[in-house]
Amino acid sequence: MDFVFLSYKDPLFSLIVFFSLIFILSVSNYSWGIISKNKNFLLIKKFLKNKPNNINNENQKEDLLVIESYINKMEFHKAISITLNLLSKNHEQYKELLNLLSTSYIGVGLLGKARATCIEHLKIDPKNIYALEKLLYIYITQNDIKSMKDISGVLKELKLDTSHINSYINYLEICSTNDITLYSHQNEFSKKLLLQYLISNNIRDISKYNIDITKHFDLFLEKNNESYLNEHLKIKFQEYKPNFEYNLMYKCKKCNELNWIKSYICNKCYNVGSTNIIFEYRT
Ligand SMILES: [Zn+2]
Repeated sequence: MDFVFLSYKDPLFSLIVFFSLIFILSVSNYSWGIISKNKNFLLIKKFLKNKPNNINNENQKEDLLVIESYINKMEFHKAISITLNLLSKNHEQYKELLNLLSTSYIGVGLLGKARATCIEHLKIDPKNIYALEKLLYIYITQNDIKSMKDISGVLKELKLDTSHINSYINYLEICSTNDITLYSHQNEFSKKLLLQYLISNNIRDISKYNIDITKHFDLFLEKNNESYLNEHLKIKFQEYKPNFEYNLMYKCKKCNELNWIKSYICNKCYNVGSTNIIFEYRT
């Protein structure tokens, strides 16, 4: 019988147990995924089914709140399902729905669809600042400098301050060509971007650019930047480093929302150059 049943001491027995466990875990994960997906689908279906046929204005505003709550919870797929369904009906909040749809598409990374939705929104509301700024954000993400310039021109015509946008475009042009002579802005944001470029390219001579690095010390708190400061600028990094354990976050001056990853464009309100670094105490 020994040749039929494996002993638990047999290495082959361990291998069989190991692969069996992996198989069971995979099947469980897959099954849970299906159950969870079906559950979400049923919730959305129930929400849409319970909607009255004679949709009044109050109900339509409630729809927007429901979609917004999903967006705030970062449940973008649910927001998209509901919004697409409502857009297929004669919904009076058409423009608002397009606005929520493009935000949800950005949330799931479908930038092509987000761009098309913004453009559709702008066809019926060409001066909508949210749609324009969102479209700019998409072009920035796609590194489409020409389209960024077009949007910046429109925003300027609408009397908005576009200096930060133009500084960012200038920075991207320098990055894409590695031609630092293109640097043409002198606001504090553009100096920070230039400093970022100098650090990234390990360019040591920064004196001619008239940058007060103490205003941008947060750049040196990032990984790999410390040595640049110590070695090339002869400044003691410790003077700028807070004496507590911290996590870095970015807070937008315009909308007051937190951005968890470093970005010069707020991923909540899409404003350029409005995020400031903040520290979160580590306990
Ligand atoms: Zn913001």
